[in-house]
Amino acid sequence: MATCANCKKIILMGGVRQEGLRFCGKPCLQRGQAALLAARMPEAERVRAAQTLFRGPCPTCNKRGGIDLYKSHYVMSFVLFTRHGSHSLISCRTCALKKQGGDFMLSSLVGWWGIPFGLLLTPVALLRNGYAMLFPPNGVEPSPAFQQEVALRLACAEIDRQQAAQNPPQQRPEKANWKE
Ligand SMILES: [Zn+2]
Ligand SMILES: [Zn+2]
Repeated sequence: MATCANCKKIILMGGVRQEGLRFCGKPCLQRGQAALLAARMPEAERVRAAQTLFRGPCPTCNKRGGIDLYKSHYVMSFVLFTRHGSHSLISCRTCALKKQGGDFMLSSLVGWWGIPFGLLLTPVALLRNGYAMLFPPNGVEPSPAFQQEVALRLACAEIDRQQAAQNPPQQRPEKANWKE
């Protein structure tokens, strides 16, 4: 049975095809296209782009240096319903610690109160978050995960640019204002 190349969901019917891959819908196709484009980006270009951002200002606090991709994990439970997941942050270490600390507090307060998943997932999220806080990316050079994310974002921007170029300008009135 066919599965989506991006989200791995089973495609019962329809879906979209691109370069021999199948996707469940347009959002997944776009993510898939971005991933293909990102994979084709030359390594030197990817590293250079990541290094520029790595040395640049933090998107949250504007402090310069050590910008990387950080993960923050959380669990929230409401008796029979448990929500859990991860945030990906591009920021400096200080901002990442604030977010990770916040999610750690939140999970330790409201993670447990779900049966059974809250009880099972909360210790996992707390451990993963503790690990992420204690062992950040090395701070000397952009981590491979950050480079990957930068390449993906550049690819997304490139696809947006191509799509915008295909639209006739009269359909984009906001462009007219920029020229003045
Ligand atoms: Zn999908
Ligand atoms: Zn910051």
